[in-house]
Amino acid sequence: MRVTFLGTGSAMPTGERFQTGILVQEDGRTLLVDCGSGVLHRLQQSGVGHENVSTVLLTHHHLDHVADLLPLMKARWLAGEDHLEVVGPQGTKSLVDDLLSVHEYMQDKLDLQIREVVPGEFSVAGFDVSAYETRHSLPCLAYRFGDLFTFSGDSEAFAGLANFAEGSAILLHDCSFPDDVDVSNHPTPETLGRELADREIGRVYLTHLYPHTEGRHDEMLESIGSHYDGDVRFAEDLKTISIE
Ligand SMILES: [Zn+2]
Ligand SMILES: [Zn+2]
Repeated sequence: MRVTFLGTGSAMPTGERFQTGILVQEDGRTLLVDCGSGVLHRLQQSGVGHENVSTVLLTHHHLDHVADLLPLMKARWLAGEDHLEVVGPQGTKSLVDDLLSVHEYMQDKLDLQIREVVPGEFSVAGFDVSAYETRHSLPCLAYRFGDLFTFSGDSEAFAGLANFAEGSAILLHDCSFPDDVDVSNHPTPETLGRELADREIGRVYLTHLYPHTEGRHDEMLESIGSHYDGDVRFAEDLKTISIE
């Protein structure tokens, strides 16, 4: 499996990190997880392009995870691609309907399939996926792809999510802010480190990074490391990992 971090930023721009998007590829299958602002450009830079993404899996409906959904639809339509499947938590159908009602000329341009999923097992774009409800200000799902890859979506760190991720070769986890930011709905390094303590995870990548984290990476890793002694790194836009 190949996982490419298209966007490792958040709702506030850093100038370097675009909003959330992750490309998951295996045996010719391609899945885009989340589609925040800038992801359409990163797709092009990754060499995959909008033509080759016919399925999008959403963690939740915050703007920084869905902002490029309509631009993706328009680019696919202009490229002569006639379909797109959008899969996400409850409310995904009305989200897409509402977006299209604002941009009426985009209605009926693509053959859209919308599917709403709940925590548990399902299959999308040929991938077997497990979903787990996170702790966030909107209903949000974390997704796990077998023993290879888990993405936290947006979430506080908590034991249930750490259990869900345990045994993954790669965990991509929200770590939005450094420790001195008082935050709910997202983890800090301290809270994430505590929940990861003693878990078996191959490697952890930190993502959903607010500008507050710039220049603070070393101290954030130290804070996690005071509880969790595994391999932890910062994700970067356009980094690809091969997972066996
Ligand atoms: Zn969110
Ligand atoms: Zn977010």
